Amino acid sequence: MAAKNEAVELTFLGTRGEIGVRSRRHQRHSALLIEHGNARVMIDCGADWLGRLDGVAPTAIVLTHAHLDHAGGLVRGAPCTVYATGETLRLLRRFPILDRRRVPLKKSVAIGGLRFKAYPVQHSIRAPAVGYRVSTKAGSFFYLPDVARLPNAAQALSGIDVFIGDGATIRRSMVRVKQGTTIGHAPITGQLDWCVKAHVGHAVFTHCGSPIVRGDPRTLSAIVRELGRERNIDARLACDGDQLFLPWNRSAQETERKPDKLDRAGRAKG
Ligand SMILES: [Zn+2]
Ligand SMILES: [Zn+2]
Repeated sequence: MAAKNEAVELTFLGTRGEIGVRSRRHQRHSALLIEHGNARVMIDCGADWLGRLDGVAPTAIVLTHAHLDHAGGLVRGAPCTVYATGETLRLLRRFPILDRRRVPLKKSVAIGGLRFKAYPVQHSIRAPAVGYRVSTKAGSFFYLPDVARLPNAAQALSGIDVFIGDGATIRRSMVRVKQGTTIGHAPITGQLDWCVKAHVGHAVFTHCGSPIVRGDPRTLSAIVRELGRERNIDARLACDGDQLFLPWNRSAQETERKPDKLDRAGRAKG
């Protein structure tokens, strides 16, 4: 059991994908806040976060790729160090980010007292994406908001406590092959199959697509839970403000959205 000061708190600041619609539950572009000691590491900072970072007060921002629903919040710069792969930094070279650091591929680096390892995934040719395996003394998770294909899924996800994946589509594939690369978004069902291969017991989906954002939350949540149950996985959809805790403890994970936390993080700044 990890000591108390090693505990890690994850907050889904935003859970909306690259879509035109939004809802109360999925208001802002997908972003995750990792709180650990004094560190507040934000993964991704899409256009919905432009001008709204004061409430989040990140000590570091880590990007999965350069699509604007993940990086567009930084067009006027960043209040802290921004970490991304060399390819992503190159695509964002015109953004006035003062302190930028390159994250190597498949090599563990320390950010805010946490270990990050970037795994290249197939999603876009123009904006190559990675998923992050984040390891802490309290446990580990994989954050992969945009993915069409995850090479060597069983190895990439092995031993993690929770997989945080792409909720663009539940069953319908949004994947196509272009110049030999798989692009788009793998359905939740496919990602759950990767979790089965890697013996991952918990999966949460963010980056929600329009069928989820527009649909009835109870019905959709029941569908995703059932798809998980069929595979022996505790699966669910994330909403803005939802939290997860490491060390993983089932009862602690039942906490639903925390409106006051969300207000602090985003809405207070309108
Ligand atoms: Zn996206
Ligand atoms: Zn993308």
